[in-house]
Amino acid sequence: MQPEKNNVSKQENAWWFIIARDQIVLQPQGNFIPYGNLDDLPFPEALANNVKKIGDYDSSPCYLIVLQEKLDVGLGEYFPLRSLLGQIHDLLFDLAGRAFQVALFYQTHQYCGKCGNKMHAINWETAMKCYHCQHRCYPRVSPCVIVGIRKGKEILLAVHHRHLKQNNPVFTVLAGFVEAGETLEMCVEREVYEESRIRVKNIEYISSQPWPFPHSLMMGFFAEYESGEIKIDKNELVEAAWYHIDNLPVLPNNGTIARKLINKMVEQCKVAI
Ligand SMILES: [Zn+2]
Repeated sequence: MQPEKNNVSKQENAWWFIIARDQIVLQPQGNFIPYGNLDDLPFPEALANNVKKIGDYDSSPCYLIVLQEKLDVGLGEYFPLRSLLGQIHDLLFDLAGRAFQVALFYQTHQYCGKCGNKMHAINWETAMKCYHCQHRCYPRVSPCVIVGIRKGKEILLAVHHRHLKQNNPVFTVLAGFVEAGETLEMCVEREVYEESRIRVKNIEYISSQPWPFPHSLMMGFFAEYESGEIKIDKNELVEAAWYHIDNLPVLPNNGTIARKLINKMVEQCKVAI
């Protein structure tokens, strides 16, 4: 990694996002993300010479350090990012996700995709630049729609192949990546039809969630059933059906936008006539 050098004050309290390979250093208690200043932390100072500021949380700066190997930095153990999901404040989790995405960006953009020469981090924005051909790259973000579909007091829930590996299959809403040249509304209609052969109407944007596995941006929508009988795409889904809000199967974990959409849809169904 070759991010720009940030001037870190030794007395400044900060959040430290230390990433090696696909894991992050977490402390066993509190907010999990190491917090403190360089004078107090048992922290190899040399590492702090190569940090990148990725934001602020609770009035303190957040610094990213990317290590090539899992060095013992004296601040905790290495864990996968997923272990933090639902365990810390959403904003702090989003910053951890940003740390992962920026680290992945630097690791995967060392050479120019246009001419093959070495890329260099530039210091006024998060980007890598090739000074041979002037090609510039930014962290990759992959937009993805996720859709709660309602029919009266029933909602459409499906089991994806990737959720079947667990003992207890998780039922969730439909989702898919936006294709080039497509609006979000077109994507909602296409993904729902491809996966379930259902047509939807009254598509409404609800909220979004960065999903750093590895670089998705989930954009949540509601839609109403318009027509069609469920016929699943067996490449994507194991099963799909309408579930009454009083009789829901195993749902995704709290902290996921899928669960937030389902909860919100259930509330709307309850107040609907
Ligand atoms: Zn180039």
